[in-house]
Amino acid sequence: MRKILVLHTGGTISMSQDTDGKVISNTSNPLMTNEPEMNDVTLQTEDIFNLPSPHITLKNMLQIQRRILKAFFEEGFDGAVITHGTDTLEETAYFLDLTLPHGAPVVITGAMRSSNEPGTDGYFNFISAIRVASDPASRNRGVLVAMNAEIHAARFVTKTHTTSVSTFQTPTYGPIGILTHDKIIFHQSLELAEQIAVHSVEGRIPIIKAYSGMDGQIFDLLNPQNLDGLVIEALGAGNIPPEAFKSLKKLIEAGLPIVLTSRCFNGVAEPIYAYSGGGSELYVAGIFFAKEINAQKARIKLILGINAKLSNLRDFIEK
Ligand code: ASP
Repeated sequence: MRKILVLHTGGTISMSQDTDGKVISNTSNPLMTNEPEMNDVTLQTEDIFNLPSPHITLKNMLQIQRRILKAFFEEGFDGAVITHGTDTLEETAYFLDLTLPHGAPVVITGAMRSSNEPGTDGYFNFISAIRVASDPASRNRGVLVAMNAEIHAARFVTKTHTTSVSTFQTPTYGPIGILTHDKIIFHQSLELAEQIAVHSVEGRIPIIKAYSGMDGQIFDLLNPQNLDGLVIEALGAGNIPPEAFKSLKKLIEAGLPIVLTSRCFNGVAEPIYAYSGGGSELYVAGIFFAKEINAQKARIKLILGINAKLSNLRDFIEK
């Protein structure tokens, strides 16, 4: 018998549509009254929060991380399932991927259609996540996202569609597994993320997106004394317009850790171009290149690295 901890955090999977067609939070989670019964699996379910995922904070993520550590190291659970709103699901998944020890499966899921909408995907995704979390083949794969009969790695998965049930995708690499009617098939193994200890999640780190014709105005408005870091979603392989770079340089010189990601959906950010504002110039000036993760995940990584007071922050970000 495999013992799985289920943590409900809120999101559409726990919501319903009202008579006006608006999707609203429920006081009691419909998944709590409709628990799946599965062979060889016992569930312990906790409504840890009831939050739409735009309300989830880093402190909530830390609370989930602590609850799972206790479950694995003090209570003998074999795996954990988290239900979560899909808007920020990838951020919680990545936070846990970096901060939970490898071993027992941790699987996150959600829904695009609330509990009483036609074609609701919540219950199906919930059962899928339990199936993945209770399968020994899911061990040592990092945190997983199970949605729409696919299994994605927390590091790369991202929400790609506002409403489609196939919203969760892994650009560049694809899912690492699928759920068939009877089986779970993993077809890719990833190198696991380096773990980092987490005790606090403080820090002001905004994300700024680059665009054609961007000048330095937004960077000039920032006071580095009020910030702990900055994430730039740059152009292409990792470039920004030259006027923007002139102002950004002042923030680098003030000692602010700045992480670059690409606004491209696929591929890896690299310091390739040596023209003014090109990646090569940015890299030499001291900007860290977060190669394979998107901006919202780079922000999580930077906050964790800063809170852990890493002396090798650049290495950690660029790994
Ligand atoms: N806005 C919702 C949320 O993230 C979307 C969802 O759960 O699918 O809470």
